[in-house]
Amino acid sequence: MKPEIPTQVSVAIVGGGIIGVSCALALARKGIDVAVFEKGTVAGEQSSRNWGWIRSVGRDVKELPLSILANDIWKDIQSKVDVGYRTTGLAYLAASESEMAGHQKWLDAARATGVRAKLVGRPELPKLIPPSKRQWAGALYGEADGVAEPLAATRGIAELAVASGARIVEGCAVRGLDVSAGRVSGVVTEHGLVKCADVVLAGGAWSRLFCGNHAIEFPQLKVHASVLQTAPLDAGLDVTINGGDFTCRKRSDGGYTVSKLGASVADLTPDSIRLSTKFMRAWLNERKYLKLRVGRRFFDELMIPRRFGLDRPTPFEACRMLDPAADPGMLNDALERLKTVFPSFASASIVRSWAGMIDVTPDALPVISKVRALTGFHLGSGFSGHGFGIGPAAGQVLADLVTGDRPRVDLADFTLERFFS
Ligand SMILES: Cc1cc2nc3c(=O)[nH]c(=O)nc-3n(C[C@H](O)[C@H](O)[C@H](O)COP(=O)(O)OP(=O)(O)OC[C@H]3O[C@@H](n4cnc5c(N)ncnc54)[C@H](O)[C@@H]3O)c2cc1C
Repeated sequence: MKPEIPTQVSVAIVGGGIIGVSCALALARKGIDVAVFEKGTVAGEQSSRNWGWIRSVGRDVKELPLSILANDIWKDIQSKVDVGYRTTGLAYLAASESEMAGHQKWLDAARATGVRAKLVGRPELPKLIPPSKRQWAGALYGEADGVAEPLAATRGIAELAVASGARIVEGCAVRGLDVSAGRVSGVVTEHGLVKCADVVLAGGAWSRLFCGNHAIEFPQLKVHASVLQTAPLDAGLDVTINGGDFTCRKRSDGGYTVSKLGASVADLTPDSIRLSTKFMRAWLNERKYLKLRVGRRFFDELMIPRRFGLDRPTPFEACRMLDPAADPGMLNDALERLKTVFPSFASASIVRSWAGMIDVTPDALPVISKVRALTGFHLGSGFSGHGFGIGPAAGQVLADLVTGDRPRVDLADFTLERFFS
């Protein structure tokens, strides 16, 4: 059924993931007439498929001000709608003294931001984790870190946005921008033109394609990651943990969300060749955690046109939802490692598994920025595997950018231009 669309709004947001709906909430609360256009369903892609971590520890310190702002916004959201937000504490467990030294280095760099994190030594670990077969040297512990339930959270924020006056239109792809006199004047959707003065592109893994069609270069690639959910279980672990070769967090339903670090897959695609010089350093830095794969995806992506007219269906309508298959071998391995390290998980069984495509930039930092080449166009994308936790804050500062208010966080590190200087 054709959804009803407005003919005019002040701000159009492309994409109903956590960034798009958080921006809509912040704009609606400022009294701005805003609509979100989502080609599939709200939270259909990364924003419902992630681990649900709201993490400061281990983050690039440039993102910590956003992370601290996000914690306040998460509290406010949870006070209005149950999104499963809670402070669990988050521990990066260290298997060796050299890993502890790495954590100390991060802490030294992060301390000035006011982040609430500390090193926990071996004697204190039993307060955080159940008996373990692995000898841990200690952990980097984020005291204010926590989790939320990804699907409930993104939908909950969308509900708050609608209650504040935003419109959210699902099943409505934005084909591209309407441009008049050198500035944005609307969005061309599959159901017609919507006039607007400002557009926020929060298109997740699709943002590069969208920008490219308007001759705006956004260096972004996709990484495939798998996740599993266990049946409810009393394993005596409430803290969210990164065990080095597996990750684990307690869910609101009593089960655990488990995954494996070092098992993300970067498929070779035409874009990875085009962007190879920009991403070379990232690939080298992440080689421990990332497998390069040559397969069908190269040819699938080769078939997607990079330039297309807006008067006929576009690639955004051809794929309503990126829904890649999970890798069962990798997930079984992650669960076995967890069981070996923590015997209290011995009876854990998998009830569900899924995968998602993470959108990444060369420096693993997002773009949260006006696009200088086109007045009225704003980009909030490239969150590189950690946009859920900071999503509400990213939405808030994007809204500040659009309305010309001073963003609550300095955004100098998040410009699009940084990739070209
Ligand atoms: C397996 C996995 C684990 C992760 N774990 C964590 C974690 O624990 N903590 C954390 O902070 N982050 C995590 N992340 C990353 C986090 O999920 C993302 O950074 C975040 O969800 C990105 O949100 P988004 O709104 O930018 O993108 P998305 O959620 O992908 O939303 C983009 C939306 O835009 C829509 N769209 C695109 N183009 C168009 C168009 N032309 N017209 C209309 N709609 C369009 C898409 O359909 C999509 O719904 C993880 C990601 C994955 C996949």
